[in-house]
Amino acid sequence: LKIIENYIEDTHNLEDAAIKEMQDGLLLETLAYVSERSPYYMERLGSIVDISGVDDIGLIPLTRRDELQDANWDLLCVGRKDIAEVVATTGTTGKPLFIALTAGDIERLAENERRWFSTMGLGPESMVQVAVTMDNLFVAGMAYYKGLEALGAGIIRSGASNAKRQLELMNSLKPDVIIAVPSFMLKLSREAKKLGLKPESLKKALLIGETIRRVDMASNPLGKLVEEAWNVECFSTYGITEASVAFTECASHAGFHSHPDLIFTEILGDNAVPVPDGEVGELVVTTFKVEAMPLLRYATGDLCFKIEGPCDCGSSTPRIGPVIGRKAQKLKVKGTTVYPGAIENALLKVAGVVNCHITAYSGEAGTDLVKVVVGIDGGVSSPAAQAVLQEARSSLKASARFTPELEISTPEDVERLLSLGGGRKKVVFKDMREGQ
Ligand SMILES: [Zn+2]
Repeated sequence: LKIIENYIEDTHNLEDAAIKEMQDGLLLETLAYVSERSPYYMERLGSIVDISGVDDIGLIPLTRRDELQDANWDLLCVGRKDIAEVVATTGTTGKPLFIALTAGDIERLAENERRWFSTMGLGPESMVQVAVTMDNLFVAGMAYYKGLEALGAGIIRSGASNAKRQLELMNSLKPDVIIAVPSFMLKLSREAKKLGLKPESLKKALLIGETIRRVDMASNPLGKLVEEAWNVECFSTYGITEASVAFTECASHAGFHSHPDLIFTEILGDNAVPVPDGEVGELVVTTFKVEAMPLLRYATGDLCFKIEGPCDCGSSTPRIGPVIGRKAQKLKVKGTTVYPGAIENALLKVAGVVNCHITAYSGEAGTDLVKVVVGIDGGVSSPAAQAVLQEARSSLKASARFTPELEISTPEDVERLLSLGGGRKKVVFKDMREGQ
């Protein structure tokens, strides 16, 4: 089935004006499509008529995550027989959100990833260990698999568990690329040391799920740990399950590219007005060429910024910087604001700190109380505990401009706190504030 003609062209070399013209057309096509097929948008768009292109996109109302959850199947634009697969978002709170995909939508996802792999220098000769969840309604594992298949690469579908088996596979099959979560890469390297194994074939790592970049695109402490442990070139990505899209890093490592024929991106300030390039705001996306559940102006809740001008790789496709936090996770502390990610980064910089878990509570006078459990080998009884604590305080003061309440624990205990959500992702931040 091809409801929408999937004339996907490579947009890598398009100039700004050509991108704009293409997106004007795609927005009108998407509006016409949802106005005829989507019960949700038929009701919402009602009287909006004066849209001639992306410059008018502000006339379309934003859709927030909770609205999507409530609407869920009302977003569906196709019949049951046209659904090829159903995936779900990874949220740890609230109702689940199911996203249906047609065969065309899966092809579109695969094309998004295929383009990423080729900008990274992968090709049919690449051998890729896909060490991420392949089931449990997880969209990314399937998307990588399909994208690698489209690229013609060799695929080792090892899944996200069993560190020992992953290492044995590396030793015998010699993959040159791995796709994994950064913290899993660190677990693999600890396990390799324990077992006396030394896999040396990997050249590149595609790291998903956790950010490895600072706002200047250099590696953050987590990214550095993976680079040092494996001596590989790391690539980062940021995906939005709801929008069936991934923003991806090219070989210039200068931000996350999006493909303008698949998605339109906006960065909005507090009053829902676009902010200038380089300024932080909320990422809002509109999908193009999606058949089953297209989205218009979906407000992601993620904060990031647009990067101006063409990339060093030569492409003018739109780029964003790394996500600096969730809009709802902003912490108000002692006259400043800080995001949990900044606290985590400041702590992981400290030698001896293995991991951490952050909890926020409501404090007095509209401020938040923040408590952090810091994992170091040996926990409180470690002779280094006091020195690490001192170092952690100065690092937090220097880069997060704020010192939360710190408690030393063992990495194993922190690991248990991180896994409490029960989902695929480790949950570093727990929000116990009233109204959250
Ligand atoms: Zn680039």
